[in-house]
Amino acid sequence: MAKHHVIVGGGPAATNAVETIRQFDADSTIILVSDEPAHSRMALPYWLSGQIPREHVLTGDEAYFQRLGVQCRVPARAVKLDAQNKKLTLDSGEELSFDTLLIATGSSPLKLDIPGVDLPGVQPLWTLDHTQSVLQYTETLSKPQVAFIGAGFIGFIVLNAMYKRGWELCVVERQEHVLPRMLDAQAAAVVQDWLAARGVEVHCGTTVREIRSGQNGQKLLVLENGQELPADVVIVAIGVKPNVDWLEGSGLEIDQGVVIDDHCRTNMPDIYAAGDVAQGPVLFSDQKEIHAIQPTAVDHGRVAGANMAGQDISYPGSLSMNVVDICGLQAASFGRWDAPEATVIANPSRHIYRKLCWQEDQPVGAIFLGQANDLGMLNDVGMVKGMLQTQTRLGPWKRFLEENPFDIRRPFIACQVAAKLARFRLLGRPSQPRGYRFQGGEAVATPGPGHASYVHTKPQTDSSSSG
Ligand SMILES: Cc1cc2nc3c(=O)[nH]c(=O)nc-3n(C[C@H](O)[C@H](O)[C@H](O)COP(=O)(O)OP(=O)(O)OC[C@H]3O[C@@H](n4cnc5c(N)ncnc54)[C@H](O)[C@@H]3O)c2cc1C
Repeated sequence: MAKHHVIVGGGPAATNAVETIRQFDADSTIILVSDEPAHSRMALPYWLSGQIPREHVLTGDEAYFQRLGVQCRVPARAVKLDAQNKKLTLDSGEELSFDTLLIATGSSPLKLDIPGVDLPGVQPLWTLDHTQSVLQYTETLSKPQVAFIGAGFIGFIVLNAMYKRGWELCVVERQEHVLPRMLDAQAAAVVQDWLAARGVEVHCGTTVREIRSGQNGQKLLVLENGQELPADVVIVAIGVKPNVDWLEGSGLEIDQGVVIDDHCRTNMPDIYAAGDVAQGPVLFSDQKEIHAIQPTAVDHGRVAGANMAGQDISYPGSLSMNVVDICGLQAASFGRWDAPEATVIANPSRHIYRKLCWQEDQPVGAIFLGQANDLGMLNDVGMVKGMLQTQTRLGPWKRFLEENPFDIRRPFIACQVAAKLARFRLLGRPSQPRGYRFQGGEAVATPGPGHASYVHTKPQTDSSSSG
C-alpha cells in the first residue's frame, strides 16, 4: 500500500528528503509543510552582495513540487506532534496523519538580551525576510556602516557579502579571537591582521552593553570596555539554536537537538529528523553532535528520505566543516582541528597557515588559511577533506607530510584517497541531478581567467571530436 509521508521544513534537509523519497518510491503521498518557501539559506549572501536576484535563492517552485507529486502546505507551521498516534497539527488547525514523518525544522538565531536590540536596523541575518530588510534599510545609504555582534562562521559569511558591496564594517566578539569555534588563536591572528589591512575593525574580548539610538537612524554600540561604535545596521550573529520548542511533550528524545541514529531515526517509530535540528553521528567522535551546516543537512535529508522510502541506508557520520571567504582570505577548518597532536606550518606575513591534526597516523582535523585565489591551496584543502572523509590512515606517509606539509598530493595518491572517494555512495547508487533550476535555466560554466587552465575542457577539434 502507498505510504503517506509528511515532511516539516523547507530547507536543504527537507527538499533532499522529498527528492530522495521520489527516487525510490513513485507512488507514495508526500506533504511538505514549511513556514518559508523552499530555499537555501547559504545562497542568501549572494543575494545580499547583489550577485544574484532573490529568486535564485529558492530551491523549488509550485510547478516543481507538483511535478514531484508533492502537496505543499506553504506557508504553514507545524505546532504539535502526537508521536504515538502519528498526528501532526498545523497552525491552521489542520491535522495531518502520517506513516512516516521527517522533522527538518532547522535552527533559529539566538537572541541578544541587551537594551536597544529592538531598534530598527538591529537584526540577525538568517532568513529571506532578514535579507530583504537589510537591503531595504540600506538602499538610500551610499556607504552603510555595519556592526556585527559575534564573529562566528555565519557572521563572517554575511560580512564577506557586505565587504563585496564596499560597506564599512566592524566586528565585536566576546571571545579572545575571531571564529573561535573554527580557528585556533594563531590562525585567528592571521585573519585579524588580514581584516585590519582591509579596514575592517575587530574588537575581541569585549561585549556590547547597549545599543543607543542616534540621529538619522544611526545607532551607537556601547561596549563593556567603554568604547562606542557607530552603525547604521547591526547584525546580531551570536549563534543558533535548533527549532525543537514545538516538539515539547511529544516523547521525542531531545538533547541539544532531536537525537538521531545512523539511519536518521529518532527514538519514536517512523519519525526521522535531519539537518540543523538533528543531533546525529559524526566522524572522529562517539558523541552525537549538531553541525548546523549545509552538507550535513543534505546528507541527513538523503539518508532519511531513502529510509522513509523503505531502504536500509546507514550513515557513517558527518564531517564538521566550515569554509569561508573572508574578504579574499580563504579559511577552512575540518573535524577535530583542536586535537593535541598537530603538524603546523605558518607564514603570517603572507597570511598562510596550515594545521593538520593527527590521531596516530590518521588525519582527524585541519585548518587552512590562504588567499582565495591560490588554487594550489584550494586543491590541498580538497585533498585533505577527502582524507578526512574517507578516514584514511596514512602509515609511513604521515612522516612524509610532517616533513613536507605542502606536498599533500603524494600521500593523497599513494593512499588511494581519490579511488575511495569515487567508490563511496551515500545511498548505494550514484546521486541524481535535482531537476530544478529557476525558470528552467541552464547551468552555464563561466570560469574566470585564473581558473580557465584548470577547468576548461579541451577545445573541440576535428580529431578530438571524431575520436
Ligand atoms: C546567511 C547564511 C549563510 C550560510 N552559509 C553557509 C555555508 O556557506 N555553508 C554551510 O555549510 N552552511 C551555511 N549556512 C548554514 C546552512 O544554511 C544551514 O545549515 C542549513 O540551511 C540547514 O538546513 P535545514 O534544512 O536543516 O534547515 P533550514 O535551512 O533552516 O530550513 C528549515 C525550514 O523549516 C522551517 N520551519 C521551522 N520550524 C517550522 C515549523 N514548526 N513548521 C513549519 N516550518 C518550520 C524554517 O522556517 C525553515 O524554512 C548558512 C546559513 C545562513 C543563514
